Amino acid sequence: MSASVFFPLDQQQVVGVIGGGQLGRMLALAARRMGVRSVVWTGGLEAPAVEVADEVIDKPFDDPQALLDFCGKATVATVEFENIPLQTMRGVAGKIGLFPSPDAVGICQNREREKNFLRDHGIPCAPFWVVDTLDDLTAAMAELGGPGVLKTAAFGYDGKGQLRISGEESPSDVWQQFGKKRAVLEGWVPFEKEISVMVVRSSDGELRSYDPAENRHREHILDVSIVPAVIRKEVADEARAIAATVAEALDYQGILGVEFFVNRDGSLVVNEMAPRPHNSGHHTLDACACSQFEQQLRVVLGLPLGSTELISPCVMLNLLGDFWSSETEPPDWTSLLQTKGAVLHLYGKRRAKGMRKMGHATLLGEDALKKAEVLKAAWL
Ligand code: AMP
Repeated sequence: MSASVFFPLDQQQVVGVIGGGQLGRMLALAARRMGVRSVVWTGGLEAPAVEVADEVIDKPFDDPQALLDFCGKATVATVEFENIPLQTMRGVAGKIGLFPSPDAVGICQNREREKNFLRDHGIPCAPFWVVDTLDDLTAAMAELGGPGVLKTAAFGYDGKGQLRISGEESPSDVWQQFGKKRAVLEGWVPFEKEISVMVVRSSDGELRSYDPAENRHREHILDVSIVPAVIRKEVADEARAIAATVAEALDYQGILGVEFFVNRDGSLVVNEMAPRPHNSGHHTLDACACSQFEQQLRVVLGLPLGSTELISPCVMLNLLGDFWSSETEPPDWTSLLQTKGAVLHLYGKRRAKGMRKMGHATLLGEDALKKAEVLKAAWL
């Protein structure tokens, strides 16, 4: 038999988490609950995970000594953030094992590789052109012949490194404004909704997915996820099937988020993949028997997958920095704490700036969206 949570004392597992953000914090909390130790490698960045991890390596991701220390303390590793140098991930994978694999994370961390992967596997995505020069952009805009969005090939997230275009602009103005970086030009998708599917795949290829979440944003940041998404059953089934195809094609091990645009006719377009737990899967902590974080640990530790069944409809409301009345003054939580079926999660961040993700609330029940709207209206 492979490992169990009841590891003999001389075989205690220590899960290494590369990245120390709130996803790492929730992974470390899930590990604690399962009696598993964790070591978090922060990359030298501010790291809400350090308060709950058993050990911390507070060094940059390209520090070779930090890699040795991390692999000396952890028995197996995972990532909570995709923008980790490939060489670092390969180093960890070679020493103690990394789930998901560096190759899978490497595809998801770069839009150019991600889009090529989707196209090569016949997975529906927006039309796109890789552009590296003004000539490339001129040709791509001419072929597109309409609205689109220019996105940096590497290190983009939450709408950062993106420029929307109408198609009427002069390519040289666009190229200048964008900063002349290697990019992907995508055709604009006139979608009706955005949804995402969290899918988990074990090392022996067993695969399960959670119900799709419907995602609504404020200023490019996730505001609420409504679960289950309000879409037809055929569309939900198709989204889960596509997410499974993506996980298979990546030979993925662990939890993967697949984001989609839903067109008015119900057809689906994959927007991007997140090779880790995802903000739109936070509800699984309170509305499913096995959370996305526990699933990740189960795969990493070689344990059986958990149930992905939704126990209650719910809404995940992100608690963003603009709910705070100042950087250090949180909103009054009384109404949330008094709301039936509301669960408060705070990430222990010291300062609330702009639209920073400070925490989230899960609201359970049929009237969850209404409850979320009432709370938001009081804080904004
Ligand atoms: P991304 O960082 O790629 O997830 O993009 C951030 C947001 O911009 C998405 O959630 C969409 O709302 C919007 N967006 C990105 N790409 C497109 C597209 N090709 N067509 C329409 N909307 C898009």
